Amino acid sequence: MTIDWPEKFARKGHELFLSGLPIALHCHHYNMNLQKTLETSLGSEGVLLLYTAAEESSHAGFTSFLEHHPKIVTAKSKLELASTSYQYCGLGIINFTKIGPEGGIVTSPHSHHVTGWLAKFGKRQNVGCFFTGGWVAGVLAAIYNKHIGYFSVDELECKMSLSKECVFEVKIA
Ligand SMILES: [Zn+2]
Repeated sequence: MTIDWPEKFARKGHELFLSGLPIALHCHHYNMNLQKTLETSLGSEGVLLLYTAAEESSHAGFTSFLEHHPKIVTAKSKLELASTSYQYCGLGIINFTKIGPEGGIVTSPHSHHVTGWLAKFGKRQNVGCFFTGGWVAGVLAAIYNKHIGYFSVDELECKMSLSKECVFEVKIA
């Protein structure tokens, strides 16, 4: 099945919609400064805010996306669509090859957030892909018909701290 991605984007004046839902597009300057501000001002609470916002939006967005494509029924196809969606939205490359309804491992060799963070702030001492972790949790809950918060995602290795790739562990919360 082929997704007509340009058809999925609709513009009404200055507003953009993806599969019927309003979306915001931001460059790495905005996104990395947002993350830095949240981390600096709120600490772990700011990290959680970023994670849960990404989780909620990816869950709502991907649920809507799947409702528009009722012929995509297998988990494997939905995971492929999620990966393509992540890439098409400019977020990067994400691999769901070791994932199932009980969780597993997700990897990302390239991402908008890693490239943006390293360009603006340089190497981190800790993992930093909180948006991606939340995005993964939300999209997997949508794929496996679970509620928000069903999965917890922890990043084990991160390219922001110069690991080879970002590695996320997914567990049932
Ligand atoms: Zn990372």
